[in-house]
Amino acid sequence: MAGNKTFTMIKPDAVENGHIGAILEKINAAGFRIVAMTMTQLSVKQAGKFYEVHRERPFFGELVNYMTSGPIVAAILEKDNAVEDFRTLIGATDPQKAEEGTIRKLYATSIAANAIHGSDSDENAVIEGNFFFSQRDRF
Ligand code: ATP
Ligand code: MG
Repeated sequence: MAGNKTFTMIKPDAVENGHIGAILEKINAAGFRIVAMTMTQLSVKQAGKFYEVHRERPFFGELVNYMTSGPIVAAILEKDNAVEDFRTLIGATDPQKAEEGTIRKLYATSIAANAIHGSDSDENAVIEGNFFFSQRDRF
């Protein structure tokens, strides 16, 4: 059965470009409840750990550099079928390939600076949520 939680980050480009409010509005309008939220800036070590699976990819250095370049907003979101529905809401990794109306189509700058993260499985949603939040931060 699909889980009811996912994890997101509004990435540095979207924060820098003033899109936090618009993105949270879209998330709420799509029926997600915000269970936990914080604004923070990742260290190189934290970003490297978060994107560990991509360590051997050619874009890993660029990815860590970008993800540590400014503040991000991290949140745990709740909704039925959360992981899949949120991936649909954010759109394809490359904003040029993202559907009209998706968050990446509307707000992303490039394939690297693509505005927002969404967990790709229920298992990773739990791991990523635990990376940022303790039980007492959740509502
Ligand atoms: P995310 O995990 O951030 O939600 P995603 O699941 O759509 O994104 P992944 O394949 O997991 O995509 O890649 C992680 C991130 O690495 C992307 O969101 C993007 O910021 C960056 N990235 C992916 N492919 C490239 C690339 N070819 N060039 C530069 N950066 C890339
Ligand atoms: Mg991913």
